[in-house]
Amino acid sequence: MQKKIAIIGCGASGMMAAITASRHGAEVTIYEHSKPGKKILSTGNGKCNLTNEDMKVEYFSTHATGRLRSCLTRFGKEETKEFFKDLGLILKEKNGYYYPLSEQASMVQQILVNELGVQNVTIICDVIIKEISPCKKQCAGKRWKVITDKEHNFYDAVILACGSKAAPKTGSDGSGYEFAKKFGHKLVPVLPALVQLRCKDTFCKELSGIRTEATIHIVCDNKELCCERGELQLTDYGISGIPVFQLSGKVNRYLFENKKAELIAHIDFLPCFNGEEWDVFIKERLTAFQNFTIERFFCGILNQKIMNLLIKSAQLNPRDLVKASNKNKLLQVFQMCRSFTFHIEGSNGFDQAQVCTGGVDLNEVTDDLESIYAPQIYFAGEILDVDGRCGGYNLQWAWTSGFIAGEAAAQR
Ligand SMILES: Cc1cc2nc3c(=O)[nH]c(=O)nc-3n(C[C@H](O)[C@H](O)[C@H](O)COP(=O)(O)OP(=O)(O)OC[C@H]3O[C@@H](n4cnc5c(N)ncnc54)[C@H](O)[C@@H]3O)c2cc1C
Repeated sequence: MQKKIAIIGCGASGMMAAITASRHGAEVTIYEHSKPGKKILSTGNGKCNLTNEDMKVEYFSTHATGRLRSCLTRFGKEETKEFFKDLGLILKEKNGYYYPLSEQASMVQQILVNELGVQNVTIICDVIIKEISPCKKQCAGKRWKVITDKEHNFYDAVILACGSKAAPKTGSDGSGYEFAKKFGHKLVPVLPALVQLRCKDTFCKELSGIRTEATIHIVCDNKELCCERGELQLTDYGISGIPVFQLSGKVNRYLFENKKAELIAHIDFLPCFNGEEWDVFIKERLTAFQNFTIERFFCGILNQKIMNLLIKSAQLNPRDLVKASNKNKLLQVFQMCRSFTFHIEGSNGFDQAQVCTGGVDLNEVTDDLESIYAPQIYFAGEILDVDGRCGGYNLQWAWTSGFIAGEAAAQR
């Protein structure tokens, strides 16, 4: 008998689950309270970075690494590339990052929606799910009843692919977590990730708008928690850019678990120098430019606005001559070039975050991503406690988990 499957959420993972379940012979209905694939349109700055050649579990955050590894083995980057190739989407690769050749995220969304049509998947948009409840005997042998604001229907299995709380404008408002809780799931606390960090320092306003290569070391009680190198963006409230995004999930988790922690970001504005080269550079500069003013002496090393701030922080007068200035203060400026301190107070919220860290614990689902509490309830995508670095890892998780849940729901 053909299985009837409901999927809640028509995002990346929901569409993958629907296509897979239909291809395995199921009759599939997707319930979407917004529009199909809205979030996909804003991915990768509108270009959609949909997977990565360098796929390792270490690039993800989860409390069940073993289960994540087995999922990525079942459906990983090769299967993703093959899946899209079979749908007619030509991909291009840049430094290991995969995009559609057209660099249009809308192509990815369109090609998935087209395939849903080919597979005869019913998509019901602008609908509110009121309840998902176990069926009583009169439900024609079906296990689950899905009640919406317009109708109700009976299904053999339901896949929750509602996304997280990140970027709620795209439809992911966190309502999926409430369904999961009703089925008995405990959530790993859900926090913003891939998001800007806010700092307490008043000098942020002075530096706003600067972009510079840097290494960011996140430190608590003199212990380094994590570090990243890349293009740092300074904003009027703190720090942003890809390296900050990569660190943000860990920072938020740490601050959540250690409420009183004082987190510091030490910024190395000159990561291109190793220690020895830097010592030589300082020595040569001090020897060669003794007759320069402080202002001229430090010109040409860093972004001028940053350097002016460092000179001010060391309490040097820009118009004084180097030879007449306190050497320790000069050395202090050099030291700050390699380790300038920002005091972190948290991050921007869910509306600014690209993903969430946390969600339905992977230890509370089977290898097929079926709930251990509610038979024939499956999960796919960001609703689960898996989030990845920037670089196509989050969409890869959506494809991976969508495929596994869709296949299992149709076959079992
Ligand atoms: C700005 C931005 C850029 C990004 N760029 C990239 C990138 O380049 N590469 C990458 O790998 N990842 C990227 N991501 C992350 C990636 O988009 C997500 O991880 C991925 O889309 C999650 O897929 P999902 O199916 O789990 O959730 P979503 O795509 O959020 O889909 C969930 C769907 O469920 C619907 N829904 C929710 N609750 C209900 C309900 N109660 N009833 C009915 N429908 C419901 C929502 O409307 C939505 O359509 C980016 C994210 C953002 C915000």
